[in-house]
Amino acid sequence: MTNLKALSLLKTSSYINGQWQQGKADLAVINPANDKTITHVVNAGIAETEQAVLAAQQALPAWRAKSANERGKLMRRWFDLMMENQDELATILTLEQGKPLAEAKGEIAYGAAFIEWFAEEGKRIYGDVIPAPAADKRILVLKQPVGVVAAITPWNFPNAMISRKAAAALGAGCTFVVRPATQTPLSALAMAELAERAGIPAGVFNVVVGDDAKGMGKVLTQHPAVAKFTFTGSTEVGKTLIAQCATTVKKVSMELGGNAPFIVFDDADIDAAVTGAIASKYRNAGQTCVCTNRIFVQDGVYDAFCAKFIAAVKQLKIADGMHDSSQIGPLITRSALDDVHKLVTDSVQQGAKIALGGDVDKAGHNFYQATVMTDVTNDMPIAKNEIFGPVSPIIRFSDEAEVLKQANDTDVGLAAYFYTRDIGRIFRVAEALEYGMIGINEGLISNAAAPFGGVKQSGSGREGSHYGLDDYLEIKYLCLGGIGANS
Ligand code: NAP
Repeated sequence: MTNLKALSLLKTSSYINGQWQQGKADLAVINPANDKTITHVVNAGIAETEQAVLAAQQALPAWRAKSANERGKLMRRWFDLMMENQDELATILTLEQGKPLAEAKGEIAYGAAFIEWFAEEGKRIYGDVIPAPAADKRILVLKQPVGVVAAITPWNFPNAMISRKAAAALGAGCTFVVRPATQTPLSALAMAELAERAGIPAGVFNVVVGDDAKGMGKVLTQHPAVAKFTFTGSTEVGKTLIAQCATTVKKVSMELGGNAPFIVFDDADIDAAVTGAIASKYRNAGQTCVCTNRIFVQDGVYDAFCAKFIAAVKQLKIADGMHDSSQIGPLITRSALDDVHKLVTDSVQQGAKIALGGDVDKAGHNFYQATVMTDVTNDMPIAKNEIFGPVSPIIRFSDEAEVLKQANDTDVGLAAYFYTRDIGRIFRVAEALEYGMIGINEGLISNAAAPFGGVKQSGSGREGSHYGLDDYLEIKYLCLGGIGANS
């Protein structure tokens, strides 16, 4: 049992303008591994969200006026504190989200890396001098912070989905308000505690926690003081929030759902493909937007791949994320598990076969067995929908053109993966896949140096890398006239 009293980062109310909100903590935070209440948080709502936006607005002039170097030093301190507290942050994350502790530690390091990255990248917001069409003019381009940024984030990466946005915003000179998912407020509040300890000024980083998603969402998408809105979550909710942002024409970026194909060609290194598929499918119990959703395997290696893959999946240990042995934790709720199970059973009715798993696991009510399905076709529910559970549907294919058509036959385009040793095919397939990120002979693709984001209905904008700042900057053009000749 974790001793909660020993967790100095366990905070239970919103952090607004450098203050912890007072009030009765009555909103339960549940551990999905056992459905027990971890703690309660104070349930903030519309009024507190408005306060947070106003606090960010007030804090903006001073934060924007700091040099990038000054901002970078405070952010660097924040990064250091996150890494010094990696174990405690990971414990809080596993308790509220369920993923195995080792993965939670990985998420903290991944999330913190964005703060380190943008602490530095903020120093490289270069402008431009463009040759003018007239001799007496000069064209100068400045990049300036957009202003107050509002964010809504999901439960599947309760730390990193916040830091990917907040780090870019703060590095660019913007101030920030986030509403984390109702299921996972504690990781966000722990980040706020460390931001305070790092000396990030009051009002620059605000966290509002509460269960009124719609009401708080309306403030964050429609308040006139918010200049930019950024969202990570489902495509369905993203579309609603884009429409809400239209009323005040906010700058918007969206990290939405995916349906990642994982293609194994006849010439692939099969062992590497099995390792890559396991990593990209089963981490976070399959609840990752870039998780493999459909595995396409070419005729010549189909039997060999299936045999090795099923043998490897069988080895995965399903247990409470706090247990050392755990490799697959619970799904976030029972209703999420029911959705996954329905995709499986509906597809079985249409002819798919269960090669492994296919039901609730003995580890508990919210745990789903590591599952492999064969005889799947691309039109079955398990292939058409984002699964968000530990289920691998395997689809057989014969040639490159056919698999590309099937892989692209979806409205979304976040991540795709393929395994081949043919250099010509690497370029052909990478260029033809309609996805924002492609893993080639690699199942793990996310890091702070790379541009993360999707095409089609997977969203717009990029997080991480030097491109990640663009979403938080405005371009301003200065036309300098009357220069003339020196007579
Ligand atoms: P979700 O239902 O869209 O929820 C995401 C966030 O939006 C939560 O904070 C939720 O609050 C809030 N929300 C829901 N309805 C809202 C509304 N009407 N107005 C304002 N806010 C609202 O998504 P999810 O099921 O939690 O997360 C999984 C989805 O996120 C998947 O589709 C996954 O692919 C996607 N995702 C994408 C990326 C990426 O980078 N592209 C990364 C991670 C996840 P409550 O918690 O209170 O419901």
